[in-house]
Amino acid sequence: MRRQFLAFATMNLILLDEEDFVTDSRVCLIGRRRDHILNVHRAVIGDELRVGLLNGLMGCGRILSVTDQGLEIETSLDQQPPEPLAVTLLLALPRPKMLRRILQSVSSLGVKKMFLINSYRVDKSFWGSPVLQSEKLQEQLVLGLEQGIDTILPEIHLCPRFKPFVEDRLPDIVRGTTAYVAHPGVESACPHDFNKPATLAIGPEGGFIPYEVEKLQNCGFIPISLGERILRVETAVPVLLSRLI
Ligand code: SAH
Repeated sequence: MRRQFLAFATMNLILLDEEDFVTDSRVCLIGRRRDHILNVHRAVIGDELRVGLLNGLMGCGRILSVTDQGLEIETSLDQQPPEPLAVTLLLALPRPKMLRRILQSVSSLGVKKMFLINSYRVDKSFWGSPVLQSEKLQEQLVLGLEQGIDTILPEIHLCPRFKPFVEDRLPDIVRGTTAYVAHPGVESACPHDFNKPATLAIGPEGGFIPYEVEKLQNCGFIPISLGERILRVETAVPVLLSRLI
């Protein structure tokens, strides 16, 4: 039982929903969060936990009671969530298992806007995956927020057609940002400590095809490399983000 909980992201913040509130300041939790607080935090009545309202303020919660029906917490929410990351992420849709992990890690890193895009080397079956249902996406993003201690749910847009996405939507998305496409083998290196608004495109396991890189370049994207080692997408994502922030 305990092993199973530890396999998930750590709940460094208990994320609350409007529906959890039984009074203005008191919540009653059941299910996953109740079990996690009791079995992983091993919390008891009187203990204080970090809590936050989804898309709202964060603060402190004190455990009032524990029953089989639920765990009651008195909350006081007075802190702003952390600043969002100024990076918009375009990611060629990865295989579902990898997508789940990537969603958790980008959410924990503070990305707030993400486009899952098609690419020639994206397996078409991935677009039919149940992970892409909005409640399933939200589940993974919430795990990342709980891990990273943040309350603001990232926006995810599904873009299953590459060309119309790049031609019709991308110009507005990149406006006001510097846009990079990560592509192994190109001359220019990924900047360090870029620290300005950026848009970052990351390819599928097989990489972007030349036509796609060209289309992105026509939209102002600069191809960049991380060096001669080719990284898996789930490794490339945090490495690239950490260079830019
Ligand atoms: N099979 C492809 C590599 C794909 S790696 C090839 O041999 O070229 C998957 C994605 O991760 C790439 O499209 C790129 O966006 C990113 N990536 C991985 N390693 C990288 C590197 N060294 N430099 C730049 N981007 C990299």
